[in-house]
Amino acid sequence: MDTTDVFTPIGQPHASRMIRKMVETGRVGGSYLFSGPPGVGKKTAARYLAMAVNCEAATFPPCGRCAACAKILSGNHPDVWTLAPREGKQTLAIDQVRELQAALAFAPYEGKRRVVTLAPAERLGLEAANALLVTLETPPTHTLLILATAAPYVLLPTIRSRCQVIRFSPLSRDALVTIARNLGFDLSHEEPALELCQGSATRLAALLAAETGEIYAEMDAFIAGILTGKRAPDLIETPKWAKQRGSMEIFLERLLWLTRDWAVSLEGDTGREIVNKKWIRGVTGAGVRAARASLLDLADALFQAMEDLKRNAAPELIFDTLRMRMEAIVG
Ligand SMILES: [Zn+2]
Repeated sequence: MDTTDVFTPIGQPHASRMIRKMVETGRVGGSYLFSGPPGVGKKTAARYLAMAVNCEAATFPPCGRCAACAKILSGNHPDVWTLAPREGKQTLAIDQVRELQAALAFAPYEGKRRVVTLAPAERLGLEAANALLVTLETPPTHTLLILATAAPYVLLPTIRSRCQVIRFSPLSRDALVTIARNLGFDLSHEEPALELCQGSATRLAALLAAETGEIYAEMDAFIAGILTGKRAPDLIETPKWAKQRGSMEIFLERLLWLTRDWAVSLEGDTGREIVNKKWIRGVTGAGVRAARASLLDLADALFQAMEDLKRNAAPELIFDTLRMRMEAIVG
């Protein structure tokens, strides 16, 4: 594969095959639903399809160099755009759909085909969704609508049934390593972030960001401190990240992985199954002992805490409860 090419979707063989077939046989429909988890390349594939139908070289794959391809890649093509909820709004508004419909009434400015991606499509308000039905049923000629969503079940059945569905899967380790390389990260296949990101390139990028590394390091030090029975003053104070919902989510997820790894290591498994090998070596090296049952209890408590956090419980209260649980584990 040409690694300088940044526009070809990576790690979605099914979707790529479908797109190739559509373009090569000249049977590109008017409405598509790109369905799959967040951060696996749905919007990249939508952009690729837009390039494929507009490329001046008129060959497949798109050249990536002609004026049309270049404009689409830089987000400056007048006939190719993405429609998302307005800043600070939860849903796509009905007037946004009306504006879209007004724009679709005209022929494309310069492209062969206008391509509009609605993302995240599950955030179409009910009114907006109903207004869109007509357009999906009979899309104007020279128009291609793509609805990209991680939650297809939220869409009205009448919306879904009017679109051809293309499914996207979580990304494999190989695909994630390639994507990371394109982002400038040289990862080994053992890198814990590859497991932690759950097949999402967006999550992987967030995990590899420097500030994420710092907050993880702080959390790991805190957890290790508690588990080795230290009562240092900086452990008695509530850390800053325990006061915010977003970072508490990260903490709970982090602690769940470590707890899981610890429980697995007690079974004598030190191989591939353990994600955070270095951390586990640190804990076992420090002679910290824990019973399998109490680790599983902690895991239960963590799932409960995740639910509580979703239901708006105060992060600090959740944190205090968990700290007591953790202290109880090591006695
Ligand atoms: Zn081109």
